[in-house]
Amino acid sequence: MTAHACAVPDCDKTAPLGLLMCRRHWYAVPKPAQREVWRTWKLLLSGGHGMRPVYEAAVKVAVDAVTTRQQPARPQLGLDFGGGG
Ligand SMILES: [Zn+2]
Repeated sequence: MTAHACAVPDCDKTAPLGLLMCRRHWYAVPKPAQREVWRTWKLLLSGGHGMRPVYEAAVKVAVDAVTTRQQPARPQLGLDFGGGG
């Protein structure tokens, strides 16, 4: 089993295998962003050509979500992030 560094630049923790970030950061990522990371990660693993930039963009969104704290926690307003599929 190998762990790897948390994807958050300022974080010196290690992330468990299979998780992008250390648990504390990962659970701070909004659900839609988590899902997008998983979705694009799976596409990347399955050999999707050109998926790396898409995956990296999803990672950036997730990292930004936990590094920029300008948005206070708000209740869900019924926004639907589901893109079908
Ligand atoms: Zn972390």
